[in-house]
Amino acid sequence: MAEHDVPVAIAGGGLVGLSAAMFLAQHGVPSLAIERLRGGSPVPRAAHFHLRTLELFRLAGVEDEVKEQSEWEFLPEGGIIAMDSLAGRKLADIIGSLNSGVEALSPCRRLFITQPGLEPILRRRAHQAGAQVLEGQEVVALDQDADGVSLICRDVDTGQQQTIRASYFIGADGAHSKVRELLGIPMDGRGNIELGYLYGSEQVHDDPHQSRARVGSRAPHVWLERDGQRISTLDLFGTAFVLLAGPDGAGWCSALARPWLGCYRVGADLIDRDAGFLTTYGLSASGAVLVWPDGFVCWRAEGLVDDPRGLLVGALRSTLGR
Ligand SMILES: Cc1cc2nc3c(=O)[nH]c(=O)nc-3n(C[C@H](O)[C@H](O)[C@H](O)COP(=O)(O)OP(=O)(O)OC[C@H]3O[C@@H](n4cnc5c(N)ncnc54)[C@H](O)[C@@H]3O)c2cc1C
Repeated sequence: MAEHDVPVAIAGGGLVGLSAAMFLAQHGVPSLAIERLRGGSPVPRAAHFHLRTLELFRLAGVEDEVKEQSEWEFLPEGGIIAMDSLAGRKLADIIGSLNSGVEALSPCRRLFITQPGLEPILRRRAHQAGAQVLEGQEVVALDQDADGVSLICRDVDTGQQQTIRASYFIGADGAHSKVRELLGIPMDGRGNIELGYLYGSEQVHDDPHQSRARVGSRAPHVWLERDGQRISTLDLFGTAFVLLAGPDGAGWCSALARPWLGCYRVGADLIDRDAGFLTTYGLSASGAVLVWPDGFVCWRAEGLVDDPRGLLVGALRSTLGR
């Protein structure tokens, strides 16, 4: 009999494990993160955080807290340089200015924050949203069957073992992953593609200035206005599918009313003061894009059609594989 029986178990309560727990909780999925350390990472390690990470933190409601902690630890808006020693000679500018040019792409700004500064914020948010973190336990064995996964965890102080049962299991136990070793998965590749990575395409990356909300790309950031408040298109995503239509796309918004589908006509429901939406999204005034809850475009229509409901239902079916 397992001591815990949970929908999702996560090996590792570092940056990836805690983020996974936080995002799952945000979608109403309870999880249990199993972390070997007590009290989180003692070493700074990750410090430079990219725009997409900050955009996802914004969706999770922790962007302000992360910024505050970052400003406490570092001078904002810095860069990265190479020195021959701390007090010595500058050898090169690696990143001259952290945020040059980001305004056109994102409502967020890149920043520096240490891992010991960030992990408690993620852990707190994950807890608040309903996730659990089990500290001082390491995953030592796992076994998958038709219904889920059984994990053996060992208490790092006493050596005592317990079994945890989960429907799904995420390995987020870092670079020297025990989970990867247990599953025989080799480590391969490196790279950073920040905002331009693509889903479902042989081409894995596109310039985010040029992606124009193509299917499989991140839905671009555009500043809009709602009830007198400035919001980013990105603030509309996160928990539901979202249909964004042009000002003449009323037919799309009346086609399908579902609680899990948000519909907005940009230029009518939302004000586009800078008139940037249609160009940035590559749409005509009656076109529309459908965006996954994670902010990626899953379907688009260049203009209104005779049967918008039929087309939309078909698009959702094929997106969800139903
Ligand atoms: C010197 C240095 C500088 C870096 N700078 C940057 C940077 O500027 N920007 C950046 O984005 N990245 C940076 N990185 C990389 C960054 O630290 C990692 O990408 C990030 O920590 C990965 O997060 P993670 O959750 O996968 O792994 P980790 O943060 O390592 O978390 C894994 C967790 O799993 C736990 N664990 C391990 N095995 C088990 C087990 N069997 N059972 C239970 N728990 C287990 C560990 O205790 C750990 O807490 C840097 C790394 C180093 C070493």
